[in-house]
Amino acid sequence: MDIAIMNPRRIEQIVDGIATSDGAGVRLTRVLTQNLQRRLDPFLMLDVFRSDEPTDYLAGFPPHPHRGFETVTYMLSGRMRHRDSAGHEGLLEGGDVQWMTAGRGVIHSEMPEQEDGLMEGFQLWLNLPASRKMAAPCYRDIPNASIPRYETSQGASVLVIAGESRGIPGAVSRDETEPLYLDVNLAKGGEFSTFVPATHNAFIYVYRGAVTSGGKAVEENRMGIFANDPGSDGISIGAAEGARAILVAGKPLKEPIVQHGPFVMNRQDEIYQAILDFREGRFSDEAAAAI
Ligand code: FE
Repeated sequence: MDIAIMNPRRIEQIVDGIATSDGAGVRLTRVLTQNLQRRLDPFLMLDVFRSDEPTDYLAGFPPHPHRGFETVTYMLSGRMRHRDSAGHEGLLEGGDVQWMTAGRGVIHSEMPEQEDGLMEGFQLWLNLPASRKMAAPCYRDIPNASIPRYETSQGASVLVIAGESRGIPGAVSRDETEPLYLDVNLAKGGEFSTFVPATHNAFIYVYRGAVTSGGKAVEENRMGIFANDPGSDGISIGAAEGARAILVAGKPLKEPIVQHGPFVMNRQDEIYQAILDFREGRFSDEAAAAI
């Protein structure tokens, strides 16, 4: 089960998140911001939320539209109810993932279903290729128990949310962007390696403790972006004191990106069309079907 990475990628940049609020006033940290969209293509956004202060999250995300990409919500703690315009709904609880393909358009709400306690998790936006931006919307709730996982003899327990790691296929796969999404839990002194093609853009976000990679530290609540070193074959991390981190990688689409809020398309005229379609109610009959 242990693998040897011969030429691990270097950490090229450490990124601090930016405190912001979204939805109806949910306080969160935006780690992958718009200025990193090209660098981390095909990923468009990463928001991290963690608070045990109800006023930070109670307002939730009332109904809002999306078009042109996928949203991946990974709840670590708390309960969040998802509803969309066709009456589909699902409850995300600690450890669960929701993978929603907005495609040509969905209106949904994401509301906390708790009045106190810790609410913690991530929302990652994954771009769709031009050919699939107007595909039919769909979503999938993935209970924690059904997410593939493995443990290594070097002190790593790994959840494979998407992609494939060490021969273990994840819960979701995508042909065009080949996303890899791992939650890596490192014991004290633990180490972890996985193959990642040098051309895939990759980053890590450390949410407990600190990790090191190639002698460089990534502290808690920081993102480390891995260089696309030619000839590199993967990523290696270690944690002297134990750590938890998400590791995300994907194949860049290399297509133009035009974002206006919750719409991400390739051209400005497609953005105008999205705004018009939303205003004229053409999203409301396009609710996500369960897949
Ligand atoms: Fe949303």
